[in-house]
Amino acid sequence: MSSSNIRVRIAPSPTGYLHVGTARTAIFNYLFARHEGGKFLIRIEDTDVERNDNSLIEPILSALKWLGIESDEPVVYQSARLSLYKEQVKILLENGHGYRCFCAPSDLEAEREKARAEKRPPRYSRKCLGLSQADVDQRVKAGQPFAVRLRIPEGEIVFNDMVSGEIRIKNEDIEDLVVARSDGSATYNFAVVIDDHDMGITHVIRGNDHISNTFKQIHLYQALGFPVPRFGHVPLILRPDKKKVSKRLGDKDVAQYQHDGILPEAMFNFLSLLGWSTKTEQEIFTRRQLIEIFDAAHLNPSNAVFDEEKLISFNKAHIQMMSDHDLAVLVAPMLVEAGVTTKYWLETRWDYLRQVVGLLKERTRRVTDFVTLGGYFFSQDFTYDPEAMAKHFDAESAELLSALADRFAALSEFTHQSAEQALEGLAAERQVKKARIIHPVRLAVSGMTVGPGLYDTLVVLTRPIVLDRLKKAVEYIRTRPQI
Ligand code: GLU
Repeated sequence: MSSSNIRVRIAPSPTGYLHVGTARTAIFNYLFARHEGGKFLIRIEDTDVERNDNSLIEPILSALKWLGIESDEPVVYQSARLSLYKEQVKILLENGHGYRCFCAPSDLEAEREKARAEKRPPRYSRKCLGLSQADVDQRVKAGQPFAVRLRIPEGEIVFNDMVSGEIRIKNEDIEDLVVARSDGSATYNFAVVIDDHDMGITHVIRGNDHISNTFKQIHLYQALGFPVPRFGHVPLILRPDKKKVSKRLGDKDVAQYQHDGILPEAMFNFLSLLGWSTKTEQEIFTRRQLIEIFDAAHLNPSNAVFDEEKLISFNKAHIQMMSDHDLAVLVAPMLVEAGVTTKYWLETRWDYLRQVVGLLKERTRRVTDFVTLGGYFFSQDFTYDPEAMAKHFDAESAELLSALADRFAALSEFTHQSAEQALEGLAAERQVKKARIIHPVRLAVSGMTVGPGLYDTLVVLTRPIVLDRLKKAVEYIRTRPQI
């Protein structure tokens, strides 16, 4: 990986929590920068005071950080750069690419209304472009409010998109956009161009819902005399029902997946393949591998589908890839938070936690499963699954559990093999199927019917605990009210 002057960015607006689409775009930019040895930057687009909620900035940055994505340079906030935009407005007016528009909002609305009625695309009439210099000067002097618009030249705009190849539009289809409002504030497209130029951005990779902005922005780059960066528009992320992923349809933001037990490595890997192809069959990659193989030429123009089941399968694979130790570090605070055990208890039994995590790992789809499916390793305080009880707890099983407890107690060593032999010996003697004993035992020690291999579970739980739970189950069966 050589160092290059490639500079890319992600530019979230604080209008919601970190959306999976924005996270995916961040990942593409990040992978591109890392692969090419360039720089990845973050800019917060926080100038739209009506739509923005600044309390969302921190959660957005921390969700990106959770994914392992941080800015290589201090985060840029648009709200701190308003004077810069003002300077550029002056330049546009001076170089003739910009002009003052004195039209009142009500006049503009009337124009748009008329266009709609005549079934024309609503486009500014350029009324103020025709004003004489003397007229303009006089209105400015009189303090008449004005916006500044960009004069779109004739011709067409063509650019070579990194994802879709050549994209073009006739300039007559673009209206003279407002770059500065009458209160002097910069509009979205104007601020983006100035910032991207100022931050030295060489490649703009973003969602294809921004293509119409790109046309306007290229005009702005040209009007301001800035070099035009390369653009790449990635497809939208769709739900399995082919609707665009959106909060309104109940789709989750990145932090919610974190809360639901998805590993950042899995999310990163999964999102990286939504619109980008490795050109191989392999799907599970570490971040490091993704950086190594990322090739922007394989960004894909067709829409990508967000299939949550697939994300879970990625998660499962990444959980298997983690060491027991690293998983234990992740799971420990979750167990404490869920009230399953205490920090102190875990600190004194770190090896035990590691063993439990190693045992449960294989069946785990979400990190939270360690808590929901493994609570019985840390607490005696569990209840028996009622359906399983009806099936597996009866007078005969009480007798079998009691006999098994005696055999376990008599073993010289309590191992996978010795526990298995003891259980099989008992089944043979009583002429019952092994399952007749296995199911009640599992229920007695865990309260559940599913879990890791039974003998491994017993060994990890340790003999005293197993004996205690078998006896408790026997007592429970014998003393529970008969229905
Ligand atoms: N603030 C824009 C968004 O959140 C970013 C657009 C861009 O990347 O230029 O969609």
